[in-house]
Amino acid sequence: MIYTNFREIDKAGRIVISKDIRRHLNIHAGDMLQINADDACITIRKAENKCVFCNAQEELVAFEGKHICKDCIAKLKG
Ligand SMILES: [Zn+2]
Repeated sequence: MIYTNFREIDKAGRIVISKDIRRHLNIHAGDMLQINADDACITIRKAENKCVFCNAQEELVAFEGKHICKDCIAKLKG
């Protein structure tokens, strides 16, 4: 299915991704999105969540826009 929306960009450069698209792609508040641009297009895709230290994708905790796994958190605590 292809979703097409027309959205106005606000003064801060923000746009709203419609609820139907967020639901379709399982995007929730706090999720990271990857934004790419070329000369004509902007592409926004759901970023793969993985630990910034070991690339694990399980048991992640979000912090300051990054993800850290519980094993690395334990190692950081020493
Ligand atoms: Zn890790």
